[in-house]
Amino acid sequence: MRYEHELEVAINAVAAAATLCKQVQAKIDPDGIEKRDKSPVTIGDYLSQGIISQVLSQAFPEDPLIGEEDVEDFQSDAQQPYVAAALDELQRANSSWLPSREQLLEAIARGGAHSSSGRFWTLDPIDGTKGFLRKEQYAISLALIVDGVIEVGVLGCPNLPASGATPILGSTQQDSGTLFAAIRGGNGAFSASFDDLNHRNSIRVSSEINPANMRLCESVESGHSAHDHSVTVANILGIKGTSTRLDSQAKYGIVARGDAEIYLRLPTRKGYKEKIWDHAGGVIILEQAGGVVTDIDGKPLEFLHGRELLANRGIVASTGPLHRQIIDAIATLGLDQ
Ligand code: AMP
Ligand code: MG
Repeated sequence: MRYEHELEVAINAVAAAATLCKQVQAKIDPDGIEKRDKSPVTIGDYLSQGIISQVLSQAFPEDPLIGEEDVEDFQSDAQQPYVAAALDELQRANSSWLPSREQLLEAIARGGAHSSSGRFWTLDPIDGTKGFLRKEQYAISLALIVDGVIEVGVLGCPNLPASGATPILGSTQQDSGTLFAAIRGGNGAFSASFDDLNHRNSIRVSSEINPANMRLCESVESGHSAHDHSVTVANILGIKGTSTRLDSQAKYGIVARGDAEIYLRLPTRKGYKEKIWDHAGGVIILEQAGGVVTDIDGKPLEFLHGRELLANRGIVASTGPLHRQIIDAIATLGLDQ
C-alpha cells in the first residue's frame, strides 16, 4: 500500500523520540519548574526534533521537515551546557545515533523548513509542553502532508494508558504509553503500546448518538481554548457530563479510540492561528478512525499555507453525528472573526 514505508519509518522515529522524552521527563525537578528553569524542556524538545529529523533524513533525504523548534534558540553560548546535556542523554539512552555537537545541531536545523508545497513532514517534538512539565499528558506528533493532504500520521503519547485503564488519564509515568497511527485510505487507524509496537489494535470512534451521554474533552490551558464557551456549547447540546481536560493531541487519540465524543478548541483571542504541527498528526488518526474535524465555522482544515492554518480558526473534532449541531451551537456565541 502507498506510504506504508513512510508509516513504518515515522513509527520508528516517534518511538525513538518517545524513549528520549520519557528519560528527560523523569529527571524534571518540580522545584526547577517553579524557578522557571526550562532546561529539561529545551533538551526534550530539541532531542525529539533532532532524532526524528535524523531518522527522516536517512530514509527520505529529499523531504522537507517543518518542525516547531528553531535551532537558532539552541545555538547561543548560553545554551551550550544544554547541548552538552542533550548529547549525554543520547549516550544514556544507548541511542544508535550518537552525533557530535555539530551533527545534533544540524539535524535540529534540518527540521526548520518554514514553508513548503508538494510533499513535506510536520512535527511537534513535544506537544503539550505544560503537560510534559506537570508529568501529565504530552505527545510527539509527526505527519506527512502531500499537496495539502495529510497522508500519514503518528502520535506518540508516552504517558497515556491503554483505553479502559483507570484512571484513564491519570499520572502514568510507569505506564508504557500509547502510540496512534494511520495512513489515509489505509486499514483505518490503530493504536499500540510502546512496549510492543508490532501488536496493533484497530481503533474506532464511539457509536454514541445521544448527546446527553457524550463526553467532551478540551485543553487544560484556558489560554488555549475558552473553557467558559465550551460549557455554554455543552449546555446547548444537552451534554450532561463535565469536560475532561488534558494537554496535547492526546485529545485526538482519546476521541479516535472511543473514550470521548468531542474535542473542542475554541479561540481565546481574535486572530490566533493554529499551527499545523499541533493538528496534522491527530487529525488523520481521528479521521481514519471514523471521526470528523473542521474549524469552528465548519470549514475543512487547510494544510496548504505554510506553518499555520491561515484559513481556519479554532477546532471542532467529533465522532460525526453531532458535528453540525456543535458548529451551530458555537455560532450562537458570536465569536469575532
Ligand atoms: P494544548 O496542549 O491542547 O493546550 O495545546 C498546546 C498547544 O497550544 C501548543 O503547542 C501551542 O502551539 C498552542 N497554543 C499556544 N497559544 C495558543 C492559543 N492562544 N490558542 C490556541 N493554541 C495555542
Ligand atoms: Mg504543540
